Amino acid sequence: MTPTAPNPAYDPNNVFARILRGEIPCHKVYENDAALAFHDITSAAPVHVLVIPRGAYTDFHDFTRRATPEEIAKFWQAVDHVVQQENLLPAGFRLITNTGPDSGQEVPHFHVHLLGGEKLGPLLSRKS
Ligand code: 5GP
Repeated sequence: MTPTAPNPAYDPNNVFARILRGEIPCHKVYENDAALAFHDITSAAPVHVLVIPRGAYTDFHDFTRRATPEEIAKFWQAVDHVVQQENLLPAGFRLITNTGPDSGQEVPHFHVHLLGGEKLGPLLSRKS
């Protein structure tokens, strides 16, 4: 389940790569053979889970273009599993994926933030 050619821009020592290798601990919520879900170290909501693919993808764009259909399906199945596991429906939730410098993406391994557990605020607060 690995892509045909690695992305040379991928940093194999980013923090999520190290979590995947077991070099840094995480509070695991769910995993399957293509994805891992764990609590964000800095919670922005009562439920704040990060879901990441096991494969080496820098961001959403890289994942969508290079991952196999099976990896993509299993990744989103993992997200859906966590939604159910955390009882986020019917109240609802928010999915965020930061991509590139304008977004403020800090960790260069594709991830989605799954946020919920209370009424969430406005989507964005514009900086002045
Ligand atoms: P980004 O800004 O890249 O979308 O979000 C990266 C997220 O990773 C941040 O919300 C940050 O709190 C989280 N994070 C950074 N380092 C660690 C870590 O070592 N463990 C966990 N669980 N989360 C981390």
